Order: sequence, then C-alpha cells, then structure tokens
Amino acid sequence: MILLLLIILGLLIWRLSGELSWSRKTIDEAEYSCAGCGKQVNQAWGVCPYCQERLTRTCSACHQKTHLGHRYCPYCGQQSRQETR
Ligand SMILES: [Zn+2]
Ligand SMILES: [Zn+2]
Repeated sequence: MILLLLIILGLLIWRLSGELSWSRKTIDEAEYSCAGCGKQVNQAWGVCPYCQERLTRTCSACHQKTHLGHRYCPYCGQQSRQETR
C-alpha cells in the first residue's frame, strides 16, 4: 500500500516537472486564440476542440497550411484574407 502511494507520488512529481518544462517550451506556439470562441488553442490543432471552428487554412498563394491566427502566411508572406460567412 505504501509502495503504491510512493509510485503515485513519484508519477505526480514526474508529470508536474514534465509539464512545467513542456509548457515553457511551447508557450510561443500555444499563444493562439480561436477565431470562433476566443479560447486558447494549439498551433498544431486543425480544429478547435471547444467550438469545432477550423483553425487552419490553405494559403491561396503557396498552398501551405497556415494558422487562422496568422495575419500573413509564414511560408510566403501572403496576407491572409478574412473569410466572412
Ligand atoms: Zn473555438
Ligand atoms: Zn503562402
């Protein structure tokens, strides 16, 4: 029983330290807000998990996938057009 507690405690500490370094490493990439609901979303995500808004779009100039939060295409500099519905 004590061994189990120690293992859980160890896992918690390991996860905590892992998350700390992970969040510090990806803080720049994570600073995107969804165009639909305004919640913080990850750059790597294609669809917002909160409101299912699409987060990526295909650049009209170079056809690379870019984030909707980008004002300009990071690959070719093409200005992103705001798609209005
Ligand atoms: Zn959203
Ligand atoms: Zn482009």
